[in-house]
Amino acid sequence: MGNSLNYSLSGTVAIASFLVLGCSGTESGKFSSRGAGYAGGGFYGSLQNYYRAGHHGSQPVKVTPNRSYQNVSVTAPAPVPGKLPLSLLGEVRVHKDYLPRSARGRRGQSSMRPRYITIHSTQNWSRGADPWRHSLALKGSKLGSLAWHYTVDENVAVQHLPTNITGRHADLNGPGNKYSIGIEMCEHRGNSRTRTVDRTAKLAAYLMYKYDIPLSKVVPHYHWPRRGMSPAHKNCPHFLLDNGRPGRKWRGFQAKVKRYHDLITTQGPAYASR
Ligand SMILES: [Zn+2]
Repeated sequence: MGNSLNYSLSGTVAIASFLVLGCSGTESGKFSSRGAGYAGGGFYGSLQNYYRAGHHGSQPVKVTPNRSYQNVSVTAPAPVPGKLPLSLLGEVRVHKDYLPRSARGRRGQSSMRPRYITIHSTQNWSRGADPWRHSLALKGSKLGSLAWHYTVDENVAVQHLPTNITGRHADLNGPGNKYSIGIEMCEHRGNSRTRTVDRTAKLAAYLMYKYDIPLSKVVPHYHWPRRGMSPAHKNCPHFLLDNGRPGRKWRGFQAKVKRYHDLITTQGPAYASR
């Protein structure tokens, strides 16, 4: 588990080039919509200003109603025999590596009872941009105020925040941040996407079980509109969307999550599909 911790970040430039590729959830759309680049050290500063500019206010939050793609009909019977939830969790290989309370990603976060699970991909193709590397960046406050709960690759799932604390990965001050567990899937070179997606599906299934979250509330980042941004709905996780929208690939992911959820529950398909 420790090998990847030994990746050395060779100076600020390397850190910056590593970070700007990341799917922070919100900042990419912000920058691209302005037509501005990441150069000139504006990445962290702009994010800081963005959050300062009232986006952490306490406006009432309206939860977006269900969309058609959230519902998937899977007619296959639940696999038998089942599996203990903790056995499934063991296969995910979660390593806790929490942000310290002093990290910017932890500041201002509040307690949360998770109602949704939001799936992202990092869009970070840098060599070695694995979960441990993202954890280092988050712990070192290199990603501004951003924070999410898990980063997953073909080998592990590194947990950055307790699941009863909010993150900032989806929609500024919206329900995606206030009520959802954020999971980022890695995309660095050499990492198996298939194995990463499979591990992510297992993690999502376990979290559904733990927090009684229905499959319809396991959503892509796309689900959460980002107020004032263009496009409002981010193409994330891009490799599980079709033409930037949930479609066949997303339904395939939902079915995978459901199969794992069925494995660890006795409630059957009706429960998981509600
Ligand atoms: Zn995202």
